[in-house]
Amino acid sequence: VTALEDTGDGVLVGTTAGTVRTGWLVGCDGGRSTVRRLAGIDFPGTDPELTGHLAVADIADPEKLANGWVWSTRGAYRYGPQPGRVVTVEFGGAPADLPHARLRSRGGTPMAPVTLEELQTSLRRVSGTDVTLTALRGAATRWTDNARQAATYRSGRVLLAGDAAHVHSPFGGQGLNLGVGDAMNLGWKLGAVVAGWAPEGLLDTYDAERRPLGAWVLDWTRAQIGVMRGDAKSAALREVVADLLSTRDGTTYAVKKISGVTQRIDLPGEHPLVGRYVPDLWLTDGSRLSDHGHGGGFLLLDRTPDGTFARLAAAWAGRVRIVTDDHATPTGVLVRPDGVVAWASDISDVAAATGLEAALHGWAGAPSPSPEHAPMG
Ligand SMILES: Cc1cc2nc3c(=O)[nH]c(=O)nc-3n(C[C@H](O)[C@H](O)[C@H](O)COP(=O)(O)OP(=O)(O)OC[C@H]3O[C@@H](n4cnc5c(N)ncnc54)[C@H](O)[C@@H]3O)c2cc1C
Repeated sequence: VTALEDTGDGVLVGTTAGTVRTGWLVGCDGGRSTVRRLAGIDFPGTDPELTGHLAVADIADPEKLANGWVWSTRGAYRYGPQPGRVVTVEFGGAPADLPHARLRSRGGTPMAPVTLEELQTSLRRVSGTDVTLTALRGAATRWTDNARQAATYRSGRVLLAGDAAHVHSPFGGQGLNLGVGDAMNLGWKLGAVVAGWAPEGLLDTYDAERRPLGAWVLDWTRAQIGVMRGDAKSAALREVVADLLSTRDGTTYAVKKISGVTQRIDLPGEHPLVGRYVPDLWLTDGSRLSDHGHGGGFLLLDRTPDGTFARLAAAWAGRVRIVTDDHATPTGVLVRPDGVVAWASDISDVAAATGLEAALHGWAGAPSPSPEHAPMG
């Protein structure tokens, strides 16, 4: 992709293979996103202060390296867990042997492949040893803690997802997961717009729901840099955080944050499940709720004794798959195609039914008993 023009009713996309006309364009083209730049979307954030390397190498004298993370005033390295796997982290901006300007370029790490010499020099610097690397096994990676997020995930008919919308250091292993979450959130909404049944404003909920999560991940990775620096204060803070993380509460806090189980999108509704990814509920016939979700549409679980919710949702049967179960709480759950709970109730009175009807209109559009406008699958 080399050019784009949003014409209001579509997008003209210039590529090296010619021009393509499309209704919408989603830039999933990584941290240096051309689509983001061409759409004029700003990419504010914080500059990098470290350079990291990750590689698997043949090492002539591995006994010179300690296993696990080793810290020094120059940075840190991690050797293992498998033989030859090396991570180095160096503070103080770009090392002198790297092209400074390119490393500082907005949007991520430089493109030049990591050489054996570069990795060895970095490892020697942070380990304070004269360890010798003899070969790289596979491609080595260089990265920074450049942390930036698109000012908006949508500009007209152009949207961003994945690293095109957010970049940060890989500490915590969040980047790919964040991008997959973007795709899950955006996919069905864009599908609904293209199929013609999207309720008013549905597409704008993509930015509203995903950008706060992206901002949180950026801050989570920034916090990790704060305890990694080589100075005495950061080393002391590292000890405190390590102590906290070795408690049951500390571990639980970190695991819940990283796994996303505590994530909650701010959606209308009082029930504690609303805005969360639906738990994989076991049903009385032995199946699990997720077994019924393979079609990719909405799911309504009805556990009322008289099928109140199922009767109401029958008007949306083309888009909403109804699953009934024996009476239990929650009595009803409406799950969006991305697995997020749009509505839930523990009772089955008129107010609950009214809430369900509002949620169906708000998320699944006008009633549609026929499958002709089903979202997908
Ligand atoms: C060392 C390291 C370790 C990591 N570990 C983890 C981890 O453990 N867990 C995790 O979740 N994440 C991890 N990540 C992050 C993860 O790799 C990225 O977040 C993820 O790959 C981003 O995917 P993406 O599809 O958005 O972008 P990319 O993978 O960058 O893909 C973008 C694609 O767009 C193409 N492209 C670019 N420009 C154009 C153009 N103009 N026209 C057409 N195509 C174009 C590119 O060729 C590329 O194929 C790690 C990253 C690094 C550097």
